[in-house]
Amino acid sequence: MEAMNQDKDFPPLGAAPGRRRRTRQVAIGKVRVGGEAPVVVQSMTNTDTADVLGTAMQVAELARAGSEMVRLTVNNEAAAKAVPHIRDRLLALGVEVPLVGDFHYNGHKLLTDFPACAEALAKFRINPGNVGAGAKRDPQFAAIVELACRYDKPVRIGVNWGSLDPSVLARIMDENAHRAAPRDAGAVMREALVVSALESAAKAEEYGLAADRIVLSAKVSSVQDLIAVYRDLARRSDYALHLGLTEAGMGSKGIVASTAALAVLLQEGIGDTIRVSLTPEPGGSRSQEVVVAQEILQTMGLRAFTPMVTACPGCGRTTSTVFQELAAGIQDYVRAQMPVWREQYDGVENLTLAVMGCVVNGPGESKHANIGISLPGTGESPAAPVYVDGEKVATLRGDGIAAEFRAIVDRYVATRYARKAG
Ligand code: SF4
Repeated sequence: MEAMNQDKDFPPLGAAPGRRRRTRQVAIGKVRVGGEAPVVVQSMTNTDTADVLGTAMQVAELARAGSEMVRLTVNNEAAAKAVPHIRDRLLALGVEVPLVGDFHYNGHKLLTDFPACAEALAKFRINPGNVGAGAKRDPQFAAIVELACRYDKPVRIGVNWGSLDPSVLARIMDENAHRAAPRDAGAVMREALVVSALESAAKAEEYGLAADRIVLSAKVSSVQDLIAVYRDLARRSDYALHLGLTEAGMGSKGIVASTAALAVLLQEGIGDTIRVSLTPEPGGSRSQEVVVAQEILQTMGLRAFTPMVTACPGCGRTTSTVFQELAAGIQDYVRAQMPVWREQYDGVENLTLAVMGCVVNGPGESKHANIGISLPGTGESPAAPVYVDGEKVATLRGDGIAAEFRAIVDRYVATRYARKAG
């Protein structure tokens, strides 16, 4: 009998979680980005920053959903004036999330004229393509970097292909035209993005900002371009990297495009903080972008945030509405409980749940989860066995199945996870 080839028959997983590319670590308030720190989830408000209450409420919502940093636009004097008041309202609510100021065109002036704004922010984000035109660009860039040094704030140098520095693009195009074999327009644009980010970071260091106070990003809206740009950035520097597909779009398209791009890079160990730039549905919650970012990291095994619910897709063997309502209800329930559970119980984010539609895969999948429930399938008596750590502990019947299942989850959490001190 032929000897079993372990390597061939049991191929290893791809890059194991944790084997991240080593970058310089940047302290942003109490949050650490880069180095050995876990990948940080961040988000951005879409309120008018001048609206102190509205912005503070949205920042609090994003932070409670799990955003570890929140960016807000600081686009005019009213916004700059509002920033310290937003920070104070958040502190009064017990929300200490670091605030990042997003500056374009007039950041040097706003940060000079409103020192309380500069103080209240944990990081400045500047875009080298929008920092100032022509002869004003370098002195205005230098002024912001000097302000960052004065207030001891890190800076994200965030290049975006929609606002690429025209002078860098023109130079790279010119160099390309003189090559023996000129590259195509896409490659030129990608090179210009990377060069703009790296040259701006080098300039910031010249002006006195330490390398471990710099985060880089170079965002595009195409998945393949984003992967190529960040691979190149990672190869050519050791700055901490903020990863995100810009203008990802709405609904499933935005989620799929962001996930496709970020998953490839994260699997290669590239990316120290992520933002998912979703356009909310009309009336939809801004915090969806936080949930998606967390789920990308959690489903990849990189971090755990919230108990995950495994559910089958359902098919003709189950009563779809009953099954779907049970799965959705328990997912919503554990997510809603997390702000409290996170404060009370160590490790509760690692809890796994399964909600399955029938006996074909239900009992098996339920036994793999910490707590699983399997519906019986269409036309059978409504009896749903529940498994806890692989053992059948109950069979639920009747209209109260969802409530009884939630009670089992509550009891499990209270007894299985250690209570935090204090
Ligand atoms: S577990 Fe049952 S209901 Fe769910 S997809 Fe499989 S066969 Fe269909």
